[in-house]
Amino acid sequence: MPVAFITHPDCLKHAMGAHHPERPERLSAVEDQLIASGLEAILVHHEAPLATDEQLARVHPPEYVRAIRDAAPERGTVHLDPDTAMNPYTLNAALRAAGAAALAVDLVLTKKHSAAFCNVRPPGHHACRARPMGFCIFNNVAVAAKHALEAHGLERVAIIDFDVHHGNGTEDIFEGDPQVLMASTFQHPFYPYSGTEDPASNMFNVPLAAGSGSRELRAAVNEVWLPALEEFRPQLVLFSAGFDAHVEDDMAMLRFVDSDYAWVTAQVKQATERHTGGRIVSMLEGGYSLPALGRSAAQHLRVLAGVSA
Ligand SMILES: [Zn+2]
Repeated sequence: MPVAFITHPDCLKHAMGAHHPERPERLSAVEDQLIASGLEAILVHHEAPLATDEQLARVHPPEYVRAIRDAAPERGTVHLDPDTAMNPYTLNAALRAAGAAALAVDLVLTKKHSAAFCNVRPPGHHACRARPMGFCIFNNVAVAAKHALEAHGLERVAIIDFDVHHGNGTEDIFEGDPQVLMASTFQHPFYPYSGTEDPASNMFNVPLAAGSGSRELRAAVNEVWLPALEEFRPQLVLFSAGFDAHVEDDMAMLRFVDSDYAWVTAQVKQATERHTGGRIVSMLEGGYSLPALGRSAAQHLRVLAGVSA
């Protein structure tokens, strides 16, 4: 079954300055590589809608959403934190990114697609309940999880986060929530310096030392993630798909390679298929080396689509 590919031109207009690594070209790098690798043929494009206040309110307090709306500039840029800025297009881009998450869940849970990938920005996994952080404004994957639980009545959703940075915002939103399991790998010690001190029992965080690569990723997945997923029996899998742990990505110091992204996606898909029916929604997070981002996302999507190498 074709994979839903959800994006919107507004996500290309959000920009945080000429030298900011989280730049519009990231989305084009993914699309270009999907065309080059022939995967474009198995995608069905959907335009991301704006997230509704109801969808956002399941994750963020209304005062926070109002503060973000109020902060949006008519011209120029305003900084929300040292790494995160808004230009006049950012508000709509952030609403499209969160709206894509909800649409992806709708498409997958109504069986229109077995999997969906949201090629959107700003990313989301550092956005806390009431705080923007680290390039993120709304927590897109959390909007997806809450939409699945509250609008579709699911009981158990798993979030898999293989971005090089710990998804502290997602943890802030879901720690202690029995309906959500979060499994992650991230470089440690490293930004945002969280995820290792006494995590809640639904958090399966595996910190990796700088220099770790395929071997350490495989150990984390086999020894920690898969047993946790087996016991949790998620009805839907959500990926926080950041590709900045790639060896070619200068943002950090892990050493994943292209094929690791196919491997980790396949392991999670196989381990949960009995419970999910193969239903997967994936949200783009980080990934700042454009060639590595494109190739890694293609590897991830190939497995989502069930296309063999
Ligand atoms: Zn990251």
